[in-house]
Amino acid sequence: MLPALTGTSPAALATWLRDAGQPSFRGSQILDWVWKKKAGSFDAMTNLPAALRAMLTASFRLSPLAHSHTQGAADTTRKFLFRLHDGRYVESVLIPANPALYGETADRHTLCVSSQVGCAYGCKFCASGLAGFARNLDAGEIAGQVLAAERLSGERVDNLVFMGMGEPLANLDNLLAAIALITGPATLQLGARHLTISTAGLVPQIRRLAEHPQQIRLAISLHGASDEVRDKIMPVNRKWPLAELLDALDHWNTLKKQKLTLEYILIAGINDSHEQATALARHARRLHAKVNLIPYNTVDGLEWQRPGESQCRAFLQTLEHAGVTATLRFEKGHDIDAACGQLRLKQETADGTLG
Ligand code: SAH
Repeated sequence: MLPALTGTSPAALATWLRDAGQPSFRGSQILDWVWKKKAGSFDAMTNLPAALRAMLTASFRLSPLAHSHTQGAADTTRKFLFRLHDGRYVESVLIPANPALYGETADRHTLCVSSQVGCAYGCKFCASGLAGFARNLDAGEIAGQVLAAERLSGERVDNLVFMGMGEPLANLDNLLAAIALITGPATLQLGARHLTISTAGLVPQIRRLAEHPQQIRLAISLHGASDEVRDKIMPVNRKWPLAELLDALDHWNTLKKQKLTLEYILIAGINDSHEQATALARHARRLHAKVNLIPYNTVDGLEWQRPGESQCRAFLQTLEHAGVTATLRFEKGHDIDAACGQLRLKQETADGTLG
């Protein structure tokens, strides 16, 4: 399998050019074609000599992602399904402006990207875990989603959230290599503060990422404000209980400027009580974090339900009365299976890749 150019760092490309006896200025020309002009083929790179284009074709694939399917309309949330070289699928979701979240303003687009095929963490409410874990995505497959979404939509991606399929911190090395491509001046050049990594709570990796010099944002999928509730719905909590998670987040706060986000899916009868809201407010205040409440998005094959609207609003009010900044977002893209893993699950089931 040839390496993908979207996964090749500028330094690795420079080495390849040197070994191929090519002048170094070809490196920036190639990077420009890939990342800025978003060329669809090597032949489109018209300022490169034909011989070099032939060498590139023999040595690299341009993109590791083949576009398979788009759901949604141009002015709303769009979901792209990509086929990988091994027949697996990943998905990315392009979300139009949502001023309340992640510092977005009008005419902005947030892309939700996947970091793994499937997920090994088995959160009880999540579609991704249903099909189990297949493999990590490599850096080119992660960064390539941004490029492909921009090419397919004609939009510039302004914000990136690692909230698609997979647990990004379980694939930290590839994630960091992808982030270098996404933020690099010669590649996608997106500011680190426009990147939010979402984790189910992998404590050692949170500590490691805290030491990373870029000002990346972090969101925690909390979904329960006590060990009792978290243990029930997120097996990861048995390994790293709440007290250890909160300690790691205190550490994060000593090294990072941006506010943490606590993600909290509201699931009827599971985590939507007044006591949970009160405990959540306490954690949020300790961490100076904002809270993002998301009514549960039902998943085929799972019995969980979203609470009624008044229950959701009461939960929000408890947080607000405690002085916590919180948003209650009725999820966009409910009708296009935008909760992580849902589209991939349907496609792989149709292809017979599963079971
Ligand atoms: N593993 C990472 C990122 C992927 S999940 C994490 O746990 O954060 C991205 C977000 O979608 C998480 O907050 C996750 O809990 C949430 N999610 C999963 N299934 C959902 C559903 N059915 N409805 C609403 N949100 C869901």
